Amino acid sequence: MLDAVVVGAGPNGLTAAVELARRGFSVAVFEARGTVGGGSRTEELTLPGFRHDPCAAAHPLAINSPAFRALPLERYGLEWLHAELPMAHPFPDGTAAVLSRSVGETAASLGPRDAGTYRRLVEPFLPKWDTLVRDFMSLPLTALPRDPVTLARFGLVGLPPSTLLMRRFRDEPAKALFAGLVAHVMAPLGGFATGAIGLVFALSAHARGWPVPRGGSQAISDALAAHLRDLGGSVHTDYEVKRLDDLPPARAYVFDTSPTALARIAGFGDHYAGYRYGPGAFKIDYALDGPVPWTAKEARVAGTVQVGANRAEIGTALRAASREGRAPDKPFMITVQPSVVDPTRAPAGKHVFWAYGHVPHGWTGDLTDAIERQLERFAPGFRDRVLARATAGPPELAARNANYVGGDIASGAVSGLQLLLRPKLTLFPYHTPHPAVFICSSATPPGPGVHGMSGHNAAKAVWKRLRQT
Ligand SMILES: Cc1cc2nc3c(=O)[nH]c(=O)nc-3n(C[C@H](O)[C@H](O)[C@H](O)COP(=O)(O)OP(=O)(O)OC[C@H]3O[C@@H](n4cnc5c(N)ncnc54)[C@H](O)[C@@H]3O)c2cc1C
Repeated sequence: MLDAVVVGAGPNGLTAAVELARRGFSVAVFEARGTVGGGSRTEELTLPGFRHDPCAAAHPLAINSPAFRALPLERYGLEWLHAELPMAHPFPDGTAAVLSRSVGETAASLGPRDAGTYRRLVEPFLPKWDTLVRDFMSLPLTALPRDPVTLARFGLVGLPPSTLLMRRFRDEPAKALFAGLVAHVMAPLGGFATGAIGLVFALSAHARGWPVPRGGSQAISDALAAHLRDLGGSVHTDYEVKRLDDLPPARAYVFDTSPTALARIAGFGDHYAGYRYGPGAFKIDYALDGPVPWTAKEARVAGTVQVGANRAEIGTALRAASREGRAPDKPFMITVQPSVVDPTRAPAGKHVFWAYGHVPHGWTGDLTDAIERQLERFAPGFRDRVLARATAGPPELAARNANYVGGDIASGAVSGLQLLLRPKLTLFPYHTPHPAVFICSSATPPGPGVHGMSGHNAAKAVWKRLRQT
């Protein structure tokens, strides 16, 4: 009998498996797709030689993750590449706010009236970032905070809605940049604790940047899987689990799946019926004939580019998708251009480019035209550079990965208490009604993103149980 079986080889499933194998437990992973990685994969989606990330591409959370930093992933080929700027937020007049590694450069790009406010917001947390991120990502209560005072101060600033925090800023560049940071997790700007989301992304950039892995996000997953094999674990792909009986006997089962799928597979009835899913994404992967012709020079050297003219436009786009059930006319977009820094991603002189906007849950329309009209405002001539595109709306995203229910790439709404307490209001989020069954996906704290911390936290719950029995 195995000690643990993990269902799903996303970043959280693989991290949970590695953490258990490192402690001497026998582990096997079963993955529905033909390759490991879940939301951290790389594929030739368009033309030969163009290597796209169908899901995650930029990695502020991975490089800052306490779980990943404790693993020898570089030994298994993971190499971080940093663009000149982690992120730029261009405006239609050709100027841009930037999120730089340097607090000073970032503050200066926000204009004289907001530079000091920005410094006062982020500087107190930076010296304590490593402890803060560990405490923040281990919530709720899977470990006592190491620095409760800093965590409490962070909570005072971050727990109110981001709209309140943005009132500290006087001018549009700072407001738009911060609103865009909150929108990375598809959260409504006025929601509880959304200030914390914006702050985490800003602090991540100053602490370690927003890099891309050489060769694409698959490198993170391949490194985790290779480390797992070296530790004696096994990985079985093309193996979709539909019932618990599909799995070999084990002392513990750990699910890197949506709560809905887990309830179906393990027969938990309506245990997770109260779990809410959020809006969907419409994603386009582009093969380009050259770099994106951004008007703002800062955007040309940034790994990630946020596209939204101002805070109001970003808020309108988020509201349309999350509250009004319609696709936005001017979508707010996160875009990533990995080949600015990684020539292995496309043939010489060509580029891969990635963009997504928010749409209602389960939306079946086509956002391509709205996305490209929006891009043309900030990068005139963009359409002329397109060699090929691969589009994926909510149905396609859900078909690629069962965890993205209705196209919700956060595997559950990041709003209300569910932002922090997911998948249920409980102090033991990784436990389920069955004592041998656990959940470790991004539907558990600390939520979406490639960081492995849900897997890391869940593994602690699993090994405590295994040692007891
Ligand atoms: C378009 C898009 C862009 C994103 N951009 C970023 C980004 O830039 N940076 C970032 O940090 N995050 C990003 N994310 C989010 C990130 O990809 C996810 O939050 C992260 O992958 C979640 O990890 P996970 O291990 O919880 O689940 P997943 O990565 O979703 O992995 C779950 C795995 O379980 C498998 N599985 C599910 N059900 C079964 C079953 N029944 N049997 C067997 N296997 C099963 C799936 O096939 C999948 O491989 C993005 C996501 C998307 C979709």
